[in-house]
Amino acid sequence: MEQQVTRHSFDDWMVPVYSPASFIPVRGEGSRLWDQQGKEYLDFAGGIAVNALGHAHPEVKKTLIEQAGKLWHVGNGYTNEPVLRLAKQLIDATFAQKVFFCNSGAEANEAALKLARKVARDSAGESKNQILAFNNAFHGRTLFTVSAGGQPKYSQDFAPLPAGIHHVPFNDLAAAEAFISEQTCAVIVEPIQGEGGVVPADRAFLQGLRELCDRYQALLIFDEVQTGVGRTGHLYAYQDYGVVPDVLTTAKALGGGFPIGAMLTLDKYAKTMQPGTHGTTYGGNPLATAVAGKVFSLINTPTVLQGVGERHQWFIDGLTRINERYPLFAEIRGKGLLIGVELSANYAGKAKQLTNLAAEEGLIALIAGPDVVRFAPALIIDRADVEEGLARFERAVSRLCA
Ligand SMILES: *Cc1c(COP(=O)(O)O)cnc(C)c1O
Repeated sequence: MEQQVTRHSFDDWMVPVYSPASFIPVRGEGSRLWDQQGKEYLDFAGGIAVNALGHAHPEVKKTLIEQAGKLWHVGNGYTNEPVLRLAKQLIDATFAQKVFFCNSGAEANEAALKLARKVARDSAGESKNQILAFNNAFHGRTLFTVSAGGQPKYSQDFAPLPAGIHHVPFNDLAAAEAFISEQTCAVIVEPIQGEGGVVPADRAFLQGLRELCDRYQALLIFDEVQTGVGRTGHLYAYQDYGVVPDVLTTAKALGGGFPIGAMLTLDKYAKTMQPGTHGTTYGGNPLATAVAGKVFSLINTPTVLQGVGERHQWFIDGLTRINERYPLFAEIRGKGLLIGVELSANYAGKAKQLTNLAAEEGLIALIAGPDVVRFAPALIIDRADVEEGLARFERAVSRLCA
């Protein structure tokens, strides 16, 4: 007999670093989820910008099952076919010449920051080690990446933190210019701050960072863990901004739900890493890379990428209509299918309450800080699901306003 489990089991058995919803999803298909009681939900969260092709996509499922019958894992003493094919796909589609695979966004950023430190040390010596990052940024939960993140509440309890990381306000080029120097080895930035409230960078800000990095020989690292793999309607957000980084990190949607991360860079930087300098047991395993290869090829098509722009408009139109009836949103922002609605001052701090009400109405949404509701649905969600989900969201909005 299988063990009976309920939401209470979480409190009994799990290290309480999360506070999950009161229901337990057990099955997903497309943009719909069902919980233990059989209640159906529309999924506008996409597993936090991960399930870019929805749940149980038939072609991805087929690839996973086929690969599961062939080879799961061999370790990095051997390379494998799926990892090499995925590397070539990423290289062909981006600025990159070399790829390092890992299992999560944090690990991709960890690799990027370590790469930047080593590139600088090899070329200019130990003192070129400073990293410039931004307030409210989110780069993951390892000690190095949580220190690069700009939300002290996530790092302060784990001091002493790695040294040499400095934060300035996001979208403030003058502040970045005031800090950057010959000692700077890297600037790490999200083209759109995701966890920090769905805040797009200004084009001039990213262009300015590019120029500063060129002037001071620092690596420009774009953290595209959330914005990558079609999320903004472009394969990567840098392609829309027209600003090319030296290092790009990608994860979340890359595996469509299977854990994988990658760091993309150029030959001249990659060559500073040698056998033994860095690694991870599971990185680039054939199961993850076969799935990611399929996900990547399904998303990297004009139809899917242009479709994201179309769907963006369905959301903006629907949310604008809701806001005409219940003036609750101070701003509706974001790109593609990474959309944030900031609650007006009267409803400050109530984003979580609103998403809880939405779940009662059968709609799963995210928050991005206490004042922003975030939507990151499947990139191929259909119109009927968007309309139905927004209708459910409107019922939640009307209850919050009541
Ligand atoms: C989610 C996220 C990360 C961390 O990814 P994990 O897979 O949770 O380690 C890093 N950077 C950004 C921008 C993210 O959104």
